[in-house]
Amino acid sequence: MNALITGGAGFLGSHLVDRLLLEGWDKVFVLDNLITGSLSNLAHLESDPRLVFHEVDVSESVAVEDPVDFVFHFASPASPDDFTRYPIEVMKVGSLGTINALELARTKGAKFMMASTSEIYGDPLISPQPETLWGNVNSIGPRSVYDEAKRFSEAITMAYRNYRGLDTRIVRFFNTYGPRMRLDDGRVVPNFIRQALLGEPLSIYGDGSNTRSFGYYEDVITGVYLLATHNYQEPVNIGTEEERTILEFAHAVINASHSSSEIIYLPAAIDDPKQRRPDLTRARKELGYEYHVELEEGLFKTIEFFKAKLGLA
Ligand code: UDP
Repeated sequence: MNALITGGAGFLGSHLVDRLLLEGWDKVFVLDNLITGSLSNLAHLESDPRLVFHEVDVSESVAVEDPVDFVFHFASPASPDDFTRYPIEVMKVGSLGTINALELARTKGAKFMMASTSEIYGDPLISPQPETLWGNVNSIGPRSVYDEAKRFSEAITMAYRNYRGLDTRIVRFFNTYGPRMRLDDGRVVPNFIRQALLGEPLSIYGDGSNTRSFGYYEDVITGVYLLATHNYQEPVNIGTEEERTILEFAHAVINASHSSSEIIYLPAAIDDPKQRRPDLTRARKELGYEYHVELEEGLFKTIEFFKAKLGLA
């Protein structure tokens, strides 16, 4: 089996590369323009001939000469800070990049997986969120570039499935964390861990009552692999039910890193979803998916990674 992973130098993409190679796939082609991905995420595979890296913007072209059996479209900046840093790039990779990746899958006769997101539910009106929820999304707000790009990418993935006969999958990731996240990506996990390790105050946006469900990358990549190897074509939520308020999460990080940092409250972010937790009924029923890593354990491993990055290990 040969795979092509757009965004394969990113946080989740590079963990997927590792998983496919571990599972014995023959070749993995990685296409990444490195605006948020990093070659350091693939450095341990430098001498592995099964990995082929191309530095390319997949919004412009997605091409390889070799046979490809599975295309995973994982390229996109994914942090709310990136949505203001790279708004046009986010929209392009979700629209043009998705079309390019779908077309490549079509011409190669390959299966296709779209990496989508819980953001398509917007600020959800019910919790937990089942896949049948349509979403409560502001089409012109600061997060809209990502939300609408991903909604477009889901729609066109279904169109290729229904009208072009493509064998497609859609995975909806919830908040995922672990080693290889960028220290400065602006999301709550790297921000809080960095602040805790450096003894700086942890910055809560708003009153800390928003909730998120934090999934460790190992569980999430297992969900991706299960979806790739099952024949199920409706969207599937993948994540954990480890739901915490952001205030609880701040305390969890302070405890896990033995930090004496304080907490400060900053203005709330605009259009920030108030709650987020996946309904995993479909993932369990269709894929036999289950998560195993508890927050405290995942945080411990992630903190070790950030310590090394900060030269504190
Ligand atoms: N957040 C926070 N402080 C930070 C970064 C984020 O309080 O330094 C909050 C943010 O407002 C949101 C939650 O943490 O309610 C998760 O934010 P993140 O950027 O990690 O991702 P999101 O789930 O919003 O895509």
